[in-house]
Amino acid sequence: MRPTEICDRRERHVLDDAGLQALREAARLSPDNLPLRQHLAGQLLAKGYLAEAEAEYRAALVLAPKNADITAGLAEAFVRQSAHGAALAALEPLLASPGYPPRLGVLAARALFGEGDTARAGYRYHEAVSRDPSVADADLAARLSAPPAPLYATPETPPAAAAPAGETSAEVERSGLTFADVAGMDTVKEALRVKLLLPIQQPELFAAYGKRAGGGVLLYGPPGAGKTHLARAAAGELGASFVSVGLADILDMYIGSSERNLRATFELARRNRPCVLFFDEVDALAARRSDMRQAHTRQIVNQFLAELDGVDQNANEGVLVLAATNAPWYVDVAFRRPGRLDQPVFVPPPDAAARAAILRILCRNKPLAEMDFDAVARVTDHFVGADLKGLVDRAVEAKLQQSISAGRPIPLSTPDLLAAAKSVRPTAVREWMATARNYVMHANDSGAWDELMPWVKGKW
Ligand code: ADP
Repeated sequence: MRPTEICDRRERHVLDDAGLQALREAARLSPDNLPLRQHLAGQLLAKGYLAEAEAEYRAALVLAPKNADITAGLAEAFVRQSAHGAALAALEPLLASPGYPPRLGVLAARALFGEGDTARAGYRYHEAVSRDPSVADADLAARLSAPPAPLYATPETPPAAAAPAGETSAEVERSGLTFADVAGMDTVKEALRVKLLLPIQQPELFAAYGKRAGGGVLLYGPPGAGKTHLARAAAGELGASFVSVGLADILDMYIGSSERNLRATFELARRNRPCVLFFDEVDALAARRSDMRQAHTRQIVNQFLAELDGVDQNANEGVLVLAATNAPWYVDVAFRRPGRLDQPVFVPPPDAAARAAILRILCRNKPLAEMDFDAVARVTDHFVGADLKGLVDRAVEAKLQQSISAGRPIPLSTPDLLAAAKSVRPTAVREWMATARNYVMHANDSGAWDELMPWVKGKW
């Protein structure tokens, strides 16, 4: 390197620092100037002052919660400091809505990869790039498609046949809920009754038509609308055991053990029949296979299909598979073949009457004044069940504090719920409907999303 070059660099560095110093000073003087703070944070990140960038992004996020650019900056600052868990926690609120910016998906993939969760990193990455190829990260893609480290790399490597039997962290529950605990959703409950409950309650009738109990239903709809709640209630309604499996239980970083764990989960359900076997986030497992370059994930999908079909005719007798997804459009069509998850059932956001009914259920067994749930339902447009639960929790907390100060229980009242409604913001229904509208209008060749048509045409 020539001396003048060194000199140039040093000079530029000093200038950089002077520029940064001016920016820092300006931000200190106008702490509420969002663009300024964002600019400072971006500069700090670009120059590698990672801890300081992180602090600036955090402060900016307080001014503009859920801002995608700021969240992306914060997540990048975390990833570059190897704080992968923190990066995922920062991204999570945005990733929960279906139309999230794809570049956030790539950041999540980098964080997941940093945590060693290659399978989920691969899913996130390919999902993001399939939506926007310009966010591709060649380096990450190459690392994701490298063969994973062998599970047994030491000389004591046991032969494949000695591989441990699959394990499942899933537990068998007895659900205390029934359909009476699910407000609204009459059509959905009816569909589940016909598909799941009647074949078991009236086997002769079904046998007469050559139909057997078993098979599955794909529940889809916006996050928090009650898919899990409904599945649990279906199990209780049927007097069946309930096994719930999150994706994390299945997608294991070690090649081979996911398949074994999946098999073990189905076996657990089969040993406890009649059983409702519930898979959450099935889109992650079932993402269109062409999107996945990873042989590993493909194997899991194939294993899932094989388990759904059952090794022999009676394997899944009395095992009812309910799968839930917020993103049904990513679910492989192979999953929807007859005998598999062949009945997509839409779990809609609640209308005002259903919201009032959900609130009534959520407030059961609490000390109550006379309540006007309809009034609360009217001001909670776009709230789903999970949002209403958050609202009631918040009102109860406030009431508890008041009761502690007063030294006596003060019943929950309508104004408490109305006040809580002001401080809780509905989650992702509007965004979900926007994404759904895109699929219904532009990718509905097979008519798979016809059921959504009246919904997406509504006002959101
Ligand atoms: P999803 O699985 O669709 O994301 P959940 O089933 O986890 O949503 O719903 C979150 C919570 O909202 C549930 O635990 C339940 O308390 C409440 N909830 C949602 N829908 C209903 C409903 N129809 N009736 C009563 N409670 C509901």
